[in-house]
Amino acid sequence: MNDLTDKVAIVTGASRGIGRAVSLLLAMQGAKVVSVARSADELDELVHKTNGLAIPADVSDETDVQNVVDETIRHYGQVDILVCNAGVGSFNLLENNAADEWDRMFDVNVKGTFLFCKFLAPHFKSRKSGHIVGITSDVARRTFEHGTVYGASKFAQDALLGSLRKEVRPHGVKVSTIYPGLVDTYFNESKPGSPDTEKTHLKPVDVAQAVRYILEAPAHVVIDELMLHPLTQEW
Ligand code: NAP
Repeated sequence: MNDLTDKVAIVTGASRGIGRAVSLLLAMQGAKVVSVARSADELDELVHKTNGLAIPADVSDETDVQNVVDETIRHYGQVDILVCNAGVGSFNLLENNAADEWDRMFDVNVKGTFLFCKFLAPHFKSRKSGHIVGITSDVARRTFEHGTVYGASKFAQDALLGSLRKEVRPHGVKVSTIYPGLVDTYFNESKPGSPDTEKTHLKPVDVAQAVRYILEAPAHVVIDELMLHPLTQEW
């Protein structure tokens, strides 16, 4: 088992939902967690519990992302783990999507993943270790009505991670992709914790446990892909 104690982990989209649960769980395993999102207040509250760093940043902004990577390396000397989790989505008939909505989803879901991987892949390759975990979605593997733009962004994020896996594997760097079904979070302005969604959705901590399982795999093992659903959701 790969012990996470003192591993330096950057987690994007950490202010709420899945990313917050990942930050908390990795901190509980002894990792040094760098929590990233735009909401500084939520990050301040989280950092009291993780004892790590909180760096407010927009994942789609190249300068912000470079700053997160630089700050982390300045503070901890290295990065071991990157969890690309930040994501946004809205669901409409194709023709009812404003072009801005396309930009927003692709900027966060695809460009955000691209920028963090772009700045960290050379660091990981030079150290011949490192683990990138991307939170995509089961809709990176299926299509559905009202999901044209979000689904396209998740297929693109998945393709990026799949190609990167092939590029970095010879350098001893792991890329793992997680495909969750429905998760009870604030996604698309939802309110988690209702009696209904508790029955029909995964909890954020369920996805965080999947991240932990992937990261704790022994050094010679890479879990390339992991899909999980609530038992009530047909795949
Ligand atoms: P959530 O509760 O809405 O959390 C989204 C997180 O992303 C927040 O921390 C948000 O922080 C951050 N974020 C959004 N835009 C950002 C930006 N420009 N820069 C930095 N951070 C940004 O949603 P969630 O369900 O936890 O979503 C996490 C991931 O899981 C997403 O990639 C989503 O596609 C995926 N997913 C969700 C579900 C589901 O059913 N909920 C299912 C499958 C996959 P700020 O607003 O503070 O920046």
